[in-house]
Amino acid sequence: MNGSDFDQQHLWHPYSPPPSPNLNKNPVVKEADGVYLTLEDGNKVIDAMSSWWCTIHGYNHPVINQALKSQIDKLSHVMFGGLTHEPAIELGEKLLAISPDSLNTIFYSDSGSVAVEIALKMAVQYQFAVGKQDKYKFLTVRSGYHGDTWKAMSVSDPVTGMHHLFSGALQAEYFVSQPPIKYGKTWNDDPTENGLQELSDALANNAEHIAALILEPVVQGAGGMYFYHPEYLNACRKLCDDHDILLIFDEIATGFGRTGKLFATEHTDIQPDILCLGKSITAGYLSFAATLCSDRINNVIRNGEPGAFMHGPTFMANPLACSAAIASLDLLASTPWQQCVQSIEQQLNTELSPAIELPNVADVRVMGAIGVIEMQHRVDPAIAQSMCTELGVWLRPFAKNIYCMPPYISSPDQLSKISGAMLKLAKIA
Ligand SMILES: *Cc1c(COP(=O)(O)O)cnc(C)c1O
Repeated sequence: MNGSDFDQQHLWHPYSPPPSPNLNKNPVVKEADGVYLTLEDGNKVIDAMSSWWCTIHGYNHPVINQALKSQIDKLSHVMFGGLTHEPAIELGEKLLAISPDSLNTIFYSDSGSVAVEIALKMAVQYQFAVGKQDKYKFLTVRSGYHGDTWKAMSVSDPVTGMHHLFSGALQAEYFVSQPPIKYGKTWNDDPTENGLQELSDALANNAEHIAALILEPVVQGAGGMYFYHPEYLNACRKLCDDHDILLIFDEIATGFGRTGKLFATEHTDIQPDILCLGKSITAGYLSFAATLCSDRINNVIRNGEPGAFMHGPTFMANPLACSAAIASLDLLASTPWQQCVQSIEQQLNTELSPAIELPNVADVRVMGAIGVIEMQHRVDPAIAQSMCTELGVWLRPFAKNIYCMPPYISSPDQLSKISGAMLKLAKIA
């Protein structure tokens, strides 16, 4: 691994120390194809991270490439204020056809964090329009992650999100414990055991200030790679209705098949008022996101003051991003992704479970195309990276978790390489 001096000294990277000559250099990716990244030294590594949940169909996909090439010759971008275009319309039709029935309108934006900002703003503007001006705060559970912009950060986990660093600038929101009953375990009706007592107390005590409850349904991503019981969400729906609070689902990580269902919402019996989508929406080609909402919210905001929703990104509904998203949805519709995700789940289950016997392993869990080995201690990503790239796998552990969310097209051999690297890392970490 050589890496670039310029990168090391001048370019910031996500959640990393600022550029400095003392840092480890980042490997340079020359190109990517299928599940493989080609590094500058010619080494090929399997991207077990799908570029952070995104590249569900793999890199350099001929169908998505072609869709983008065709679109670029027609219209790369145009302002969405006062104008519209075919890719935005076609994508909208396709998204509404597959997303929860309760959602009928779409606000496009440029990234997941912005989609969350928009959802939170919609909730506040909705409450304002129904005359509940005091309802502008948010309730959520610990260990969540909703993005890095200010408001999204304020509803992300206070500890992993380092709220103390920003305490003066960050508005405090309401937090309750992470839903305690894990996915796949038997639901316990005792409200002190299942977390619902704490949730309903928080709602009862603060309902007059709370605009919405925001959650990642079933799978908490970057905040802890934790899977919890969908029954918790069914109860949330009722509690929200009782207290006149909107329910926002952030499916930016879980959307488009990752958990085995097209949307994690489908593991529940209920539907949210607002849904955030992002990450894999363009299959990893371009930054893009969408916030969907119900007719009720749409109608209330339309009839309230000022009669418009106060948000409008410059690159809203970018036609190139829309065309990549359309091609990705068409691929999902024409490929047996559900079987792929199911086989990935079975194989990861079989191959990762032995890790539970290792001395420093706290937990092993698999759901859909997501596999996690949780260690007792924090894992050093630099050590992990150099060890795994030697083994031909790209993994980037976060905090205590060694995890993968491979592309749906990963073959059994490629998956075995991934789980092999994860186990080897768990032995030494
Ligand atoms: C990644 C993520 C976000 C933020 O998306 P960006 O595109 O990085 O802004 C928000 N919510 C969840 C659940 C995510 O996984």
